[in-house]
Parts: sequence; C-alpha cells; structure tokens
Amino acid sequence: MNLLLDDFISTTSGKISLKELLTSDIDYELQYFFDEIQLSALQLLSSLTTVVLKPTMDELKIYLECGITSKQYDEAVAKVNTALFDERQFMQSKSTDDRKYFDAPITKMISGIECGDSGNASGLFSETSNADVVCPDCVPLLNYNLHMNIKAESFGPAGGSTGIRGGGSISTLIAAKNLKQTVLANTMTTDFFSRYKGNSTTNKSLMWEEPPTGDIYYAHKIGLERGLFATAYHISFDRLNEPCVCDICGNQAQQSIKEFSRLKYTGTYGSTKTGRDSGAGWWPHPYTPTTKKNDGVYPLCARGEKWQSWENLTAYVIGRESAKALLEPAPIVAQFKEMDGGANLLVGGNIADQGSVVGRVYDLYSMPEHWDEKMERVTKVIDAGLLVKDGLSKAISKIFGVGYDKNLVAGIKDKAIYQYISNAQIIVQRLLVDAGRTDLAQLRDRALLQLKAEALSIYRSLITKYQDDLPLFKALVKGEKSLLSIGKIKN
Ligand SMILES: [Zn+2]
Repeated sequence: MNLLLDDFISTTSGKISLKELLTSDIDYELQYFFDEIQLSALQLLSSLTTVVLKPTMDELKIYLECGITSKQYDEAVAKVNTALFDERQFMQSKSTDDRKYFDAPITKMISGIECGDSGNASGLFSETSNADVVCPDCVPLLNYNLHMNIKAESFGPAGGSTGIRGGGSISTLIAAKNLKQTVLANTMTTDFFSRYKGNSTTNKSLMWEEPPTGDIYYAHKIGLERGLFATAYHISFDRLNEPCVCDICGNQAQQSIKEFSRLKYTGTYGSTKTGRDSGAGWWPHPYTPTTKKNDGVYPLCARGEKWQSWENLTAYVIGRESAKALLEPAPIVAQFKEMDGGANLLVGGNIADQGSVVGRVYDLYSMPEHWDEKMERVTKVIDAGLLVKDGLSKAISKIFGVGYDKNLVAGIKDKAIYQYISNAQIIVQRLLVDAGRTDLAQLRDRALLQLKAEALSIYRSLITKYQDDLPLFKALVKGEKSLLSIGKIKN
C-alpha cells in the first residue's frame, strides 16, 4: 500500500485514497474508533497533502476555493519519490548500531495511554483485548501518532523517546465545512512556513531516508517535509498472514499486525530540556501552539486534570503576551487567519503529565466567519470567562482568613474552581456558536451573565455546604458580594 497512491483512508463509505479525498466532490467522513486516531489522521493527511502539493499561499487559496483536479494531483505526485511513502518504508528508519530493539504489543501504540505508569492510566478501552490487532492500512497512522502525539513516558519503565513536537503537546487544527476542505486548510504553505524557518539551507530528505545523526538535532537544519514526519525511533512492524478485523478502523484485512519493535534514537530535539539547553532550537511544527520563555520555546500542553482548553482559546488564535511568556498560535492557525479564516477550530491532545483517559482533549470551537475582523468577539467571551474565574477565586479566598488548615482550605477552593472551569467549557462553546451574529456589547453581557450565574451557583452550594461551620460560612457570605459585583464596571 502506498500512502500517496492507494486506498488506505477509512471513511464511512469505505476506504479511499488521498487523491480521491482531495479531488472528489463526495463529502467523505473519517471512520476511526478513537478520537486520538481521528486527530492523528487529520494531521497525517494534511502533512501528506503538503508533500504532494507544496502550495504557496496563493495556490492554497485557489485550491480551497476551486478544489483540485485529478490531473493536478497526478502531475504533483509525479514529482514526489512515492516509494518513500510505501507503508513498509514510511517513517520506519533502520538502526545501524547493534543495540537491541524492544518488542511490544500494538495495543501500546493505540493511544499511548494504556502503558502510562499513573494510577488511572486506563486507556480508551476497558480491556486491552479490545484493541490488539490492526490492519496494514492503519499502521502508518499509529506510527505517525507515536512520533507526533504520544508522550515518551507512555512506554513506562522501558522508556520512550521525545519527538520533535515534545510529546503530549496540544494540537490546534482548522475544522472546515467538510473533510476535503479541512485537510486542505491544514496544509502548510511553503512561503508562509519560510517566515518561521527563513531560507536557510535545510535538509529536505525524510528521516527514514537519512536518519538524523549526532547528539543534538538542530531545528534550523530540518526542512518542512523532514520535520512534518520527524521520527524519534527506529521501528518495525511484525506482519502476520492472518486475516483480521482491524480494531482501529473496523475493516477486514488479509494481514494483521499485533506487535512492533522499537529502538530510541540517541540524539535529542529542541523539544527536550537537553536539546533546549544545547541550543537545538524549536522546530515550528505547523500544528503546535507555543510559549516563548526566557530559556526557550515550549509546546503548549494540557497540564493537569483541572485544565480546559477554553482558557487558552484566545492565545491559540491570536496569541497572548504576559510578563512571563509569549503565547503564539500554531503556524497553521496563523496561516489560516491570514487567509481570512472562515472555519472552526479543533483543539486536541492529551494531558501532558499523566497518561490517562481522564485527560483527553478534543474540543471543537465555532469561530466567527472572518477571523481577523471578528476575533474580538471570541476574545470577549474568553475574557468574560477568565474574569469570572478570577472573581470566583478572589471570593473563595476569603476563607483563607479563617485560620483553618491551609491544605483543607486550598482543597475547597481548588475543587470549586475546577468545577467552574469544567462547566464553563460547555458554556463558552455554546456562546461561540452564534458569536459571529451577535452584537459585541450584547455578546459580552450574555457571556458575563451566563458565566456569572454558573460561578454563583457553585459558590452558593458552597455556602449551603458550610452553613453549620460558622467561620467558613461568614467568610463565604462576605465573598459573595465581590462575586456579585463582577463585570459591573465596564472595561
Ligand atoms: Zn485498520
């Protein structure tokens, strides 16, 4: 099977090729059982499209408007060394030293969660036997997901390797009106990318053609295509001549894969501390929003269970500057914004510091039609959410004055704030659905009203809960006034 030529993409209408997806008028829908794989499929398909089309921004605009013809696809693919995209070669470099490979069941690759060390590393399935065999078409997807999205710690005590994106980083993708538009909208253009990378001489070969050497993999030496499919392991898959029903796409296949072998690369990317400290530099992966700090660039990650993606939504699209750090949108989002937007935003990933099903992030946000003109509306909603969070935090903080054990009081506060952040996720997503059509002042008022009502309801249930504990009760009642006054002064 060849990723640029053959039918390997699982859709609700059967398997199709990249060419069919990009050139047909049929509205295909992906069919994969897990969100993670769905997300990884979108990333992979757009990265493959980048390799085939290598569009400039002007060309991509035309493709988005008029589509691509079969002839255009064939002409473009004729210029690519397609042999490198055969599933038996794709992202599979071979070791030249005599270190020993580690074998593992394919289950470990399906989410990268199943093997985390943490107590609730429960995976996405209740029994490992629910996901232990995959078809040859899905292997490239799993392999890509491993290198781009899975955190190194997922391999438990045997250890993993950290890829070019840092592992466990958040992905932001453009979600357009259908699959074809989505894949095109997430295609990186050569001219926009060169704003990040400059025109320095970079290595354009793929890493399974020419694995990186040395201890440090310098970002400035890595070209667009090399980086889009950057690997961190030598890897091979054990293919059996046994029919199976694939646990990833649900299709029948004549061959099955149940195990894989891997060997960590010995060098490091700028996504790790060692790499950062050695000046490897951050490679601007198109789907990764970043934080610039004094000591280097970090991918944005979902940290801790109490995190919800709405809090950073503004930063994902227009960036945010604070005294400590500069949050920058992923290049793909910046590129799309410049093309006048007109799509929704998908935020996906896994919570970075623990492999757990609790920590999955897969949020879709409605965005106003013209991102550049109307982003202020999104900002108003997010700011209202953050303002209320801050107000709730200040109100509850009155209980710190009571003189009780600090941990106990902090526990009460954390729980309430988490509940607010979590409930606000749905409220924010709902508010954004018709943000484009609402008057700005009205939108702000509506956002404040709904989010404040949520915060108040959480706060009042605290008051009820502690009504028999007089010191806590009094402190909470005092705090309620400040909560009620949120947003009274227009800012
Ligand atoms: Zn499959």
